[in-house]
Amino acid sequence: MKILVAGGAGYIGSHMVKQLFRADHSVVVLDNLSTGFRELARYSELVVGDLADTALLERLFREHRFDGVMHFAAASLVGESMQDPGKYYRNNVADTLNLLEVMVRHEVKHFIFSSTAATFGEPESVPIDEAHPQRPINPYGASKLMVERMLQDFHAAHGLSSVCLRYFNACGADPEGELGECHDPETHLIPLILQAASGRRENITVFGRDYATEDGTCVRDYIHIEDLCSAHALALEALVSGEKQGALAYNLGNGQGYSVQQVVEAVQQVVAEDDFTLEVKEGDRRAGDPAVLVADATLARRELGWQPQYAELDIIIRHAWAWERRMLR
Ligand code: UDP
Repeated sequence: MKILVAGGAGYIGSHMVKQLFRADHSVVVLDNLSTGFRELARYSELVVGDLADTALLERLFREHRFDGVMHFAAASLVGESMQDPGKYYRNNVADTLNLLEVMVRHEVKHFIFSSTAATFGEPESVPIDEAHPQRPINPYGASKLMVERMLQDFHAAHGLSSVCLRYFNACGADPEGELGECHDPETHLIPLILQAASGRRENITVFGRDYATEDGTCVRDYIHIEDLCSAHALALEALVSGEKQGALAYNLGNGQGYSVQQVVEAVQQVVAEDDFTLEVKEGDRRAGDPAVLVADATLARRELGWQPQYAELDIIIRHAWAWERRMLR
């Protein structure tokens, strides 16, 4: 297949491109490098440009006959979305609409979309399955939900089939050590703890110990980046083969929650093998953090045949730690 990967120079997109390359697909990456890195887009042709640039998109779709599009290009910081919602509605909604309209004009009918557990907002119950109400509590989640809605309408009007994949906590790194997470600023728990261990940052702060969970810290569902990407590949194959049609959505997680305290301890164990330690500080709750977010991903397993390979937290941390140590060199 020939696939356009928007945002293919970012953390998730770059792992996806490597998997597609491995499976002998031909990939064109479109990335404006606002948060991505040229070096991460090593398994594809890279076009540096923006989804807002309709002329560029028209040219790309004229030059290439794409079988499908995977879309990872988005702004994804909850806190920033509260301060600057316009950025989120422009980048995540308006620019995606631009891409969809170009797809329709060029009759490209298969679309895989990076969505998020943040579309669910404060959960009414866990684990969260696809029937759970979606009531986002920040502009980031709202912007992703708006695209989910647009995709239903684009299917009805234009026959564009899509799969939205709602990620819980994406983490880990390429098992071969070539790719990994390098956000700036980094806000995610596992890379932050690893940076505290490697010495790239002074310490890690636990955001709140007064949640209604067993040890008082927030519980999340951590999913390895490779497993996340394998679900995308299966989803695209299902659309292109015609096995699936419509505007579909699946939650992606391991269905197993770990508390912040458990993650800290698991990291401490892994880094101790290399004689590293870390300083843990106590902090207040971070605004907008629900106590527990755990996915029910039964539907993705059943309908896409998805089978996570790296569900264990220990393996996730080992792969991310190998990448963090590479960053030190
Ligand atoms: N967290 C923390 N300290 C940090 C960063 C995150 O205690 O420096 C907690 C955060 O409150 C949440 C969990 O770790 O409960 C995962 O946060 P992350 O930002 O990685 O992902 P999110 O669940 O917000 O998407």
